[in-house]
Amino acid sequence: MSIVIQNISKSFGSFQALSDINLSIGTGELVALLGPSGSGKTSLLRIIAGLEAADQGDIYFHKDKVTQTHAASRQVGFVFQHYALFPHMTVADNISYGLRVKPRKERPSKKEIAEKVRELLALVKLEGMDDRYPAQLSGGQRQRVALARALAVEPKVLLLDEPFGALDAKVRKDLRKWLRKLHNEFQVTSVFVTHDQEEALDVSDRVVVMNQGKIEQVGTPDEVYEQPKSPFVYDFLGNVNVFTGRVKQGFVHLDTHQLKTSTISKDIHNQEAVVYTRPHHMEISRKKQKDAIPAVIEHIHMVGPIAFLELNWKDDEEALQVELAKDRFHELNLKKGETVFVVPKNLTLFFPEEFTI
Ligand code: ATP
Repeated sequence: MSIVIQNISKSFGSFQALSDINLSIGTGELVALLGPSGSGKTSLLRIIAGLEAADQGDIYFHKDKVTQTHAASRQVGFVFQHYALFPHMTVADNISYGLRVKPRKERPSKKEIAEKVRELLALVKLEGMDDRYPAQLSGGQRQRVALARALAVEPKVLLLDEPFGALDAKVRKDLRKWLRKLHNEFQVTSVFVTHDQEEALDVSDRVVVMNQGKIEQVGTPDEVYEQPKSPFVYDFLGNVNVFTGRVKQGFVHLDTHQLKTSTISKDIHNQEAVVYTRPHHMEISRKKQKDAIPAVIEHIHMVGPIAFLELNWKDDEEALQVELAKDRFHELNLKKGETVFVVPKNLTLFFPEEFTI
């Protein structure tokens, strides 16, 4: 089931929560709505579900306009951040609830329902837990039951609102891998709300980056990460180093240094630019060289195979952030307090007149 979101706008009082949103989601796609708190992700999800009415625009499921269709008739499955399981029902009864409350004509037989519950328990790896109550499950297990319950009615569309938001980091990581696998098997068109960029990049086929009620960029995880179209997307998707300077003769001139980049068009001359680069694209050398910025190592911390460094290069500027593979870090034999030379690579330039930076 494909979803088309056409010119959707929504205000709450005088506050515009969504402005002219257009998006097409293909059948069987897993799309993440990613953005900071208040960017409009949940409002958009609720409008897709029919739980909230848009002020303008339309929603289509396949070719059918469902804008005026009641949520209950849209055949949508939901999973929310806070496990909305019925506490007084067993796992099996929670999962089968949507089937048991169907009108008599559409309701499967007791045997069929029991079989479906068994299949779903196997799918979410909770075999043998059918008689437990939600209070007897861990947070991760409860979310898996919530997902099984959403899938029981064979929804055409699955909507997930921060489904793993209340869980600890390790469980979150496990569950998102598992969701990806499950989605590959089930192929139900899914929209997943998250403010966690790693989660969005890890799980989804495409990421929709939202900011202040608008879509900033839509693309595969690789596209939005490697080719961010705006400073906002660049910044939101990971750690950054930012420099401001003027572009002249193929270089970005900072106050004291020049950065070389191959991406500057010859037509750009003496224009103010803001330069972004990721910490893993910063090289460190012990030798003074052209295009290198001398900086003092202020802080070093190691996480697994990566060394994270903070370097002071100018008192009134933010510290440079550098990430090095541990082997390279040991090879350079870097120590806190030393002066080294930093070469920023893979530079992306934005021009302030085109963006609010
Ligand atoms: P979060 O990650 O914090 O859940 P979000 O990106 O999902 O944020 P929304 O919940 O869609 O954002 O909210 C977008 C904006 O609309 C917010 O500023 C919010 O305060 C406002 N908003 C949402 N629902 C209502 C409502 N029912 N009444 C008034 N304002 C609302």
